[in-house]
Amino acid sequence: MKAVKFGGTSMSTADSILSVKQIIESDAERRFIVVSAPGKANGEDKVTDMLVAVAGERPNLRAGKFAPVCARFEKICDGVGLGASFLKEDLSAIEKMLQDASRDYIVSRGEYLCAKILAALLGYEFVDAAKLIKFSGNTYDDGYTESVCALGLSRCRAAVIPGFYGSNGNGDIVTFSRGGSDISGAIVARAVGAGLYENFTDVDGFMTCDPRTVPHASVIDILTYNELRELAYMGANVLHPESIFPVRKANIPIHILNTFNPSASGTKIVPTEEFLSGKYERTKKMPITAIAGRQHFFSLHIDKSMMNSEVGFVRRVLSCFERLGIAIEHIPSGIDSMTVVFSAVDQKTVNALIKAVQDEVKPDHISLTTDVALIAIVGHGMKSRPGTAARAINRLSTAGINLRMIDQGASEINIILGVSDDDFERALVALNGEFEV
Ligand code: ASP
Repeated sequence: MKAVKFGGTSMSTADSILSVKQIIESDAERRFIVVSAPGKANGEDKVTDMLVAVAGERPNLRAGKFAPVCARFEKICDGVGLGASFLKEDLSAIEKMLQDASRDYIVSRGEYLCAKILAALLGYEFVDAAKLIKFSGNTYDDGYTESVCALGLSRCRAAVIPGFYGSNGNGDIVTFSRGGSDISGAIVARAVGAGLYENFTDVDGFMTCDPRTVPHASVIDILTYNELRELAYMGANVLHPESIFPVRKANIPIHILNTFNPSASGTKIVPTEEFLSGKYERTKKMPITAIAGRQHFFSLHIDKSMMNSEVGFVRRVLSCFERLGIAIEHIPSGIDSMTVVFSAVDQKTVNALIKAVQDEVKPDHISLTTDVALIAIVGHGMKSRPGTAARAINRLSTAGINLRMIDQGASEINIILGVSDDDFERALVALNGEFEV
C-alpha cells in the first residue's frame, strides 16, 4: 500500500485536482493521501501566502482579506463538480474564528479545505491532521505522533489528510515550516506501514545539477537517503529536508513523481544500506551522482602560531559563534590556522564576531571573506576510489578558477569545494564537464 502526497501546484486548480483524482484512481494501492494547499495558478497567489497575509492583518480587517481565499475555493469546488457552495459551512466557520485565531490556525486552513475537497471527490474519509500529528508546545513530537497517528489511521481503509500542521496538548493548531506537507506525508507513510511514499510535485525529479546553469543536466533515477541529505543541504529543494526522517526510520523509499507528467519515471530515494548492498541499480553508473552548490557564505580565517598546542583553542573560537547564534557549515584547518565557513550575516554581527574571537583567542591575524560559494560533489561511487578530489582540483585549475577551500567528510560521500561567488557558475559547468554527471 502507498501513502501519497500532492504538492501545491498539483492542487492549484480544478483541472489539476481532477488529474490528481485520476492518478489516485489509477492505482488501488494509493490509499492514504496527504495534500498541500492550492499553489500559484492563473496569476493568483499560493493560498498559504494569501492566508499568511490574512493572519498578518489587524483582527477586524482579516475577514476582508479572507474573501479572495473563499472565492478561490468556491471556484475550485465548482470546477471539480462539487458545487460552488460545497465548503460554505467550513468557510463561514473559519471566518467566524478569524478575529481570535492564532497565526498557525489561519495559515493551515488551505490544507484543511483542500483535503476536504479531495476526500469528497474520491469518496475517501477526511481525517484532520490535528488528531494525528502532535506537537509539544511548538516543537514536533515524533515519539507521540508515531503512536497517535498509527492508531488514528488504523481503522481507515482510505483517507485524505491535510498536510503541514498538527496540534499540541492545548489543542492549538501548530504548523511545520513552509513546505512541511512533505513531512506530514512521510509521517503518514510510516504510520500506515506503507511500502512506498509517493511525492507528487511539478518537476520530474532530482536533477544531476541545476539545469539553469547546466542545461544538459538529467533526472537522477535512484538517490540514497544520505545523498539526498547532502543535496538538500546544498539547496536542492524538491523535498522538505526534514521529510526524510520519519521514512528513514521505517526504511520506506520515497518516489518523487510529476503530476503533470505522470508517466515519467521520477527519482526514487532509497535506504542507503539497501542501495549499497546492491538492491537497487542506477541506469547511469557514475562515481558522482550529482553536483550542487550554494552561494553567499562567509569565511573567517584565523592565524595563530602554535595554535595546535593551545588546548581548547578551537572550542573557544566556536563558542564565539555559539554566543552570537551563528550556525557553522565547515571548519577546514591547518597547523597554525583555521577557517570557519558560515552563512552570510549582517555587518553588525560580523563586527561582534571578530571582536569576540580577538578577545577570546588573541589571534596573530584574522580576516573575513564575504563572497564564498560552496559546491558539493556527491555520490557513493567515489568511496574507496582514488582520484575524485584530484580530478576536481585539476579541472578547476585548468578553467582558471581559484579553489579557496576543500573539505571531505570521512564517509566519503561528498567533497565540498569553496570558490568565489563570481566563479560559482563557471565552476559548476567545469565540474560537470569533468564528471559528466
Ligand atoms: N502550503 C504550505 C506552504 O506553502 C505547506 C506545503 O505546501 O507543504 O509552505
